Amino acid sequence: MTSQKIRQQFLDFFKDKQHKIVPSAPLVLKNDPTLMFNNAGMVPFKEYFLGQKTIKNKRIADTQKCLRVSGKHNDLEEVGIDTYHHTLFEMLGNWSFGDYFKKEAIGWAWELLTEVYKIDKTKLYVTVFEGDKQDNLDFDQEAYDFWKSHIDEDRIINGNKKDNFWEMGAQGPCGPCSEIHVDLRTEEEKAKIPGKDLVNKDHPQVVEIWNLVFMQYNRKADGSLVDLSAKHIDTGMGFERLCMALQGVTSNYDTDVFTPLIREVETITNHNYGKDNETDIAIRVIVDHVRAVAFSISDGQLPSNTGAGYVIRRILRRAIRYGFTFLDQKEPFIYKLTKTLSKQMGDVFPEIKNQEVLIHNVIKEEEHSFLRALDQGLLLLDRIIDNTKDKNISGGKAFELYDTYGFPFDLTQLIAKEKGYTVDEEGFNAHMQKQKDRSKAASAVETSDWNVLVEDEEEEFIGYDSLNAKVKITQYRKVTTKKDGEMYQLVFNMTPFYPEGGGQVGDKGHLEMNNGDVIYVLDTKKENNLIVHYTKHLPKNTTEIFNAVVNKEQRKLSASNHTATHLLHQALRKVLGNHVEQKGSLVKPKSLRFDFSHFAKVEPQQLQEIEDFVNARIRENLPLVEKRNIPIQEAIDEGAMALFGEKYGDSVRAIRFGKSIELCGGTHVQHTGEIWYFKIKSESAVAAGIRRIEAITNAAVGDYFVEIDENYEAIKHVLKNPKEPVKAIENLQEENANLKKQIEGFLKDKASNLKDELKDKVQQINGVNFISAEVSLDANSVKDLAFQLGGEIKDLFFITGSNIDGKAILTIYISKNIANDKLHAGNIVRDLGKLIQGGGGGQAFFATAGGKNPSGIKEALEKAKGYL
Ligand code: ATP
Ligand code: MG
Repeated sequence: MTSQKIRQQFLDFFKDKQHKIVPSAPLVLKNDPTLMFNNAGMVPFKEYFLGQKTIKNKRIADTQKCLRVSGKHNDLEEVGIDTYHHTLFEMLGNWSFGDYFKKEAIGWAWELLTEVYKIDKTKLYVTVFEGDKQDNLDFDQEAYDFWKSHIDEDRIINGNKKDNFWEMGAQGPCGPCSEIHVDLRTEEEKAKIPGKDLVNKDHPQVVEIWNLVFMQYNRKADGSLVDLSAKHIDTGMGFERLCMALQGVTSNYDTDVFTPLIREVETITNHNYGKDNETDIAIRVIVDHVRAVAFSISDGQLPSNTGAGYVIRRILRRAIRYGFTFLDQKEPFIYKLTKTLSKQMGDVFPEIKNQEVLIHNVIKEEEHSFLRALDQGLLLLDRIIDNTKDKNISGGKAFELYDTYGFPFDLTQLIAKEKGYTVDEEGFNAHMQKQKDRSKAASAVETSDWNVLVEDEEEEFIGYDSLNAKVKITQYRKVTTKKDGEMYQLVFNMTPFYPEGGGQVGDKGHLEMNNGDVIYVLDTKKENNLIVHYTKHLPKNTTEIFNAVVNKEQRKLSASNHTATHLLHQALRKVLGNHVEQKGSLVKPKSLRFDFSHFAKVEPQQLQEIEDFVNARIRENLPLVEKRNIPIQEAIDEGAMALFGEKYGDSVRAIRFGKSIELCGGTHVQHTGEIWYFKIKSESAVAAGIRRIEAITNAAVGDYFVEIDENYEAIKHVLKNPKEPVKAIENLQEENANLKKQIEGFLKDKASNLKDELKDKVQQINGVNFISAEVSLDANSVKDLAFQLGGEIKDLFFITGSNIDGKAILTIYISKNIANDKLHAGNIVRDLGKLIQGGGGGQAFFATAGGKNPSGIKEALEKAKGYL
């Protein structure tokens, strides 16, 4: 059965059981401070489990893109080494939100595996939670009893808290789980060791395929467990592992999910899969990682130097490094897999197909720059090896190479070994640990439990219509970080404060308490589905109703920049073409920034056209046409564009200004005229194929014009108010160039006159032609002079002292044929340098010294004779 069909059957099965089938949520998370990427199928539904959002569909099923490369779930170092862990994988899942529980979850999982997919029952084992003393939890008898009705009791295995109690993170919803494992070994092997003994023992052919989680507790900050008000089902089945089980193979990489990519790598690199262990690992790493990188780029996360972008960069670099070391790839090649990937996954995940070119270019560029860095690192490593005397490279040096040049430690080890050197691994790890501890300390957050004052389903946002409102606190908590110290997070029953989102920064403002206290709201952010207000202080009375007031001026400026961003987007597509897609946006009160896909520099004339287009729309004073809560399809039919990597609900908000229509939750002006004026400040590259425009509107443009005007007036004033300032500056530049040329000529003449004078001053001392003089030339001219004299006078000892702006310089030239260890310019100048309170050195035939005491020059010149 093909993987396509396997996926479809899963979805169809649960559709038949009244589940709503939803598309995968984006890989990269936006409103979750605890997590960068979706690492499990349940993540997009967190707000339901946390009770922060009203549940519309109690049963849902889907396939979710997951990435396990950071935080609590990190499989990165396993990937490629083993055959069943991936960075990016699909998790098939079915959910019940306060609807069915253990009985159905267990029964349906069994039905699907054994009746639809027809997996032999004798290949399956299941686990149930054995209980835990510390958490005061009992054996999961309920699950055991349901399993007993489907499967022989000797195939039910007890599991401990580590394997059979699922937790989202340090805090939050959790519960016992039952895993389903499949034994894919041959009959011979099974006869030797029973499968039961290999469950959860990291055997590559006895693997977990499905985890059924029974969410029934909430873990609080102090570690204690409380019952959830409603019980939920959360299941996750590894799609690639299921394909392995159903396609009769014993490695995920032998399924049709991976074989096309592997064939492609074989063709490109001329290495075959299945012949050599190291080669195989490298090929697995590459075909796995290219998927992770491609999917995150298509969801809007480009490789970069920080946060989620850095995680992606590291994944790609791991693949490049394996290719470099084990497949001999010294030129970019991973990007060439994009086409095969898009052909294979594009139907189910259209974002891959639609952004094939972008993915291709970004990966290629990353490969290029990392391979260049590797080259540079290799040179540095050579130098380190040359300077290492005891054949053991220090951990500090290896760490420096890693930290500043991105040069991987294992590569350092490999190369060192080839040359008969070792690397101090312990030292390296110690440096690494130190760095980790430092960044951990800097980003440590202490979050207390929510203090719930009022049970409230959803916190309504009323900020599109009002900038202040009478509200009350429904819950609050204290958060302590190193950076900000103690802060409070307040949630209201409703709020006029716009939470950071869609590129627009969160509102600021204040709360007017009834006792006259004013508490400032420093920022507003969304956390899952909660709108959280950040304050430095907690109101004295947390239960009163008070006035929440948004900073009107800043909101107005943000709105102006947000509307301008929409017009800019429209202008870009008009002027550059419809390939332009939004790739990032930042809307602040002071400025806006817009990243978009485009493959060349935007020419100045195009920038002018874009600016003109936006300003024309501003002058038209187009009214805002806002449609709230319309079905997403209706908005798309009207011409709105959905962005990749954005999570949209069933109903959306559409914002129209003239012909610009966007799906947008941000705040906007009522008429474009309020923007006043739009001015582009810069255009630059962010990554391969992604450009950035930074611009200003409204009051910032006023400030900008004033600043330019002031500068211009100042320039004119300095130039004594010429009629044509530009011409005046050009004249100055020309005059300056001419003067420079003249000076150069004068200096040359001076030196040549000087040379003649000096030639007359030669003294014969012990067969050496000695010249000493004080000259007023700069160091370069003195050097020229010395070499010219040296060319004309044999057996020369030439010494000069010059006083340049209060600093003394001594220069000594000795003809090469008479310079030796005794008559050594470097040594002599070092000695004499003391007289000018300085130091210096150089070679035997030429050397200089600088010092701060020009009055010593005379004595130095006098003493020089003594060396002959
Ligand atoms: P394992 O112990 O094998 O790492 P897990 O306990 O981490 O699995 P869960 O968190 O329960 O797995 O995830 C649910 C399912 O997702 C697993 O049963 C498995 O089929 C699949 N899965 C988990 N991690 C990976 C991965 N890194 N690559 C591919 N599939 C995975
Ligand atoms: Mg795991």
